[in-house]
Amino acid sequence: MAPHDTGSETAPPTAAGSGSPSKAAKNAPPPLPEPLRVPVADSHTHLDMQQGTVDEALAKAASVGVTTVVQVGCDVAGSRWAAETAEAYDAVHAAVALHPNEAPRIVLGDPDGWSRQGAREPGGDAALDEALAAIDALAALPHVRGVGETGLDYFRTGAEGMAAQERSFRAHIEIAKRHGKALVIHDREAHADVLRILREEGAPERTVFHCYSGDAAMAKECAAAGYFLSFAGNVTFKNAQPLRDALAVAPAELLLVETDAPFLTPAPFRGRPNAPYLIPVTLRAMAEVKGVTEDALATAVAANTARAFGY
Ligand SMILES: [Zn+2]
Ligand SMILES: [Zn+2]
Repeated sequence: MAPHDTGSETAPPTAAGSGSPSKAAKNAPPPLPEPLRVPVADSHTHLDMQQGTVDEALAKAASVGVTTVVQVGCDVAGSRWAAETAEAYDAVHAAVALHPNEAPRIVLGDPDGWSRQGAREPGGDAALDEALAAIDALAALPHVRGVGETGLDYFRTGAEGMAAQERSFRAHIEIAKRHGKALVIHDREAHADVLRILREEGAPERTVFHCYSGDAAMAKECAAAGYFLSFAGNVTFKNAQPLRDALAVAPAELLLVETDAPFLTPAPFRGRPNAPYLIPVTLRAMAEVKGVTEDALATAVAANTARAFGY
């Protein structure tokens, strides 16, 4: 059900725990980190999937120097909500799209009702076209700064869904270019095909690999193409050395930081609910990998995010 959780990651627990103290502590939101001195943005979050109100999430984030968030929609309803929220809050920018796992559900049906639209019958290509037209209309709005998350997800989508996923990805690239918005890429176990389709279609001027998950060689390829690389909390995981190697070679002027909250909570809070206020934890871990000060990295990341999303 998680849009971009890792295989071993579970969705954040709800308030209904087992009641035992250890479980309650494990499910509790992590403590506030030390505030950043240089404010940054959370370049990719899902406030609509987190506990509490938007006001609470933004206030908590701002209290530790996370003053801006990019709210990412994963289906038509979520994208509409992202656009409305961005219009209502100066600190929020929106990205709109059909998630790579949403497109096949629209075409082939969704008996389990993963998305907020509930269980759905197969809609075929016509239903996908209709949903893409809705995304296209949202992408024209001034508060919408990005088109995404779109891309390919070979982890959750099987062979039967790949055609719909690819058609949706290509359509989103075209929408981003036509509206002059940033393209936000979700690439899960599909590196080569994502890079190939971007080359074939011609990538938009500003392209962001959200929750970057490639290796150092791919990071160099992305850097050569001018793609932004956004690192999430999984860069802190013990088993994520290849990701840290990628971060080490990525140019500072292309780096972004994100939570992808409520997923991918950074160590040492892995498994507990994630939220934008935890950005400092990931940013500090990134600064260590890059061998730069936290302030220097935050300054670069803040400028990069504004450049990527054009705000
Ligand atoms: Zn994603
Ligand atoms: Zn996401």
